[in-house]
Amino acid sequence: MVLGIGGLRALHEVNYHPTVHHMNEGHSAFMALERILVAMERHQMSFLDGLELTRSSNLFTTHTPVPAGIDVFSSELMDRYFSFYFPKLGISWMDFLNIGWQTGTPKGDGFSMAVCAINLSSHCNGVSKLHAKVSREMWKDLYQGFHAEEVPIKSVTNGVHHRSYISKEMSQLYDRYLGPKWLQPPAGEQVWQRAESIPSEELWRTHERRRERLVAFSRKRLVDQLKSRGAPPSEIQAANEVLNPETLTIGFARRFATYKRATLIFKDLDRLIRILTNKDRPVQLIVAGKAHPQDEPGKQYIMDMVALYRDPRLSRHIVFIENYDVNVARYLVQGVDVWLNNPRRPLEASGTSGMKAAANGVLNLSILDGWWDEAFTPEVGWAIGHGEEYKDKDRDYQDQVEANALFELLEKEVVPLFYNRSNDGLPRGWIEKMKHCLAKLTPVFNTDRMVAEYHETFYNPGNERYRTLSANNRQRARDLAKWLNMVRTAWPNIRIEDIESDVSSAHHVGEDIPVRVKLFLERLQPQDVLVQVLVGRVGSDDQIIGGRLIELQFVERQGDRCVFSGAIRLNTSGRIGFAVRVLPSHHDLVSPVLVRLVHWARPV
Ligand SMILES: *Cc1c(COP(=O)(O)O)cnc(C)c1O
Repeated sequence: MVLGIGGLRALHEVNYHPTVHHMNEGHSAFMALERILVAMERHQMSFLDGLELTRSSNLFTTHTPVPAGIDVFSSELMDRYFSFYFPKLGISWMDFLNIGWQTGTPKGDGFSMAVCAINLSSHCNGVSKLHAKVSREMWKDLYQGFHAEEVPIKSVTNGVHHRSYISKEMSQLYDRYLGPKWLQPPAGEQVWQRAESIPSEELWRTHERRRERLVAFSRKRLVDQLKSRGAPPSEIQAANEVLNPETLTIGFARRFATYKRATLIFKDLDRLIRILTNKDRPVQLIVAGKAHPQDEPGKQYIMDMVALYRDPRLSRHIVFIENYDVNVARYLVQGVDVWLNNPRRPLEASGTSGMKAAANGVLNLSILDGWWDEAFTPEVGWAIGHGEEYKDKDRDYQDQVEANALFELLEKEVVPLFYNRSNDGLPRGWIEKMKHCLAKLTPVFNTDRMVAEYHETFYNPGNERYRTLSANNRQRARDLAKWLNMVRTAWPNIRIEDIESDVSSAHHVGEDIPVRVKLFLERLQPQDVLVQVLVGRVGSDDQIIGGRLIELQFVERQGDRCVFSGAIRLNTSGRIGFAVRVLPSHHDLVSPVLVRLVHWARPV
């Protein structure tokens, strides 16, 4: 309430009246209610008018691929805080609760902030392509009668702010070889392509300087941590000699959310020790983390890490840095050679620390989840596994398989590539990968690209729509609300009465099969509806798999029936089936799916 309702009031108080409103995660979703209330009070509108005026310039970004991560408030709590508020909206208490009610849960059971945001926004997005797909699956129950792919949740993949995360040393190198424009938007692929021509030796020396600084920083932090814990002087003395500035360094830093699986690499301790302590090709691991005071598994993890560090075989090869914050993050993403990320797919909505690392030429070694699922190619880094997903009951098995895949990669690819040096001592293959990583990933996974995408996909069109709907004392918004109300009332009576097409005989690929559909539209006009045919292969359960949509055109009235027709072009062989559907259609509607009304029929 403070963030959403208070936030909007604060903006208005300072006389700032934005047209587009972006809710980043559900916490601010009450803002959309307040927007409607303001429209009602200022412009003498009904709740539904106000909803239509504001909805198509609201954007909701979801960040949570797990239902448990979403705020849901009990109806008692809603009653306590909203009993004074909802009457101002002119709707019933049940209608009010329905704004946040999720289909499939007992009615009145809880008010979900995400559902509220989805219901009051015409635009939604997830924070990576994979996360948007997972979100469409997660919210498909809100769109009964539609396929998950049609759920209107798009994707805008997160990005990182280069100026905040690229080291000073690398920045100077980029200044020299990419030209002064690399920090100015839109620094696209052309600018970053020049990373391929940075002299290998210079790139490597620059990176090594950052690794040295990270080692020095880690030692200092370790000494401070030991002192504050009252460790004996001998231990403190030894801490000054942990790590080696020339050793292959893996970084891992997390909030200790369990899905991030901070302990995966410790699954097979003997194997890890063999990798780390190899005489000719040693490896070191720097882990940073921060556990919430109430996060017991997180605190246990930190204790386990401290115990590992006390293991004399490991003490020079592992450092744990407490109080992970943005300063620690910078040292890490700028100084390690490999950034490790092993979440349980698909629970990492995007992940951004790997992007920070990539922008410094650090190679990612990660599960194909979040951003890495769309960023990975073998030339820019490594993928653990192939994007498999596992059932909850198979978690232990999954951990075993994926830990094994991680070790295999380290042993067979990562370590050899790092230590395979040419005569001049440079790891040429590794440096090539660093350059590809800079050239391919950095121009994409940054905030300039991200903001431009939000702007083009949502802010600009949202702004246009708000202005259109507002014109003429908000007449278009009022008309749209009235039309929607009429459609909702008529919808139960709409019928697909007859489908005529020659489905019985065999057809050839390339042939056009005519289709005629007769509809009873009650008081709706032909232009109020969209009539479509879904054509696709028929599976063993008689369902149409995948398929494509073909729009039919209105041709004539027959008494009080309306006839639509079109043709299905066959472009594949096999058993083809089709279904017809009717949806509402209006020029001011962002998408017909948003109304969540549809009638389906199959030819008999
Ligand atoms: C970047 C960053 C994060 C987020 O990292 P993810 O990979 O997105 O989980 C968390 N904490 C700090 C201090 C960071 O710098």
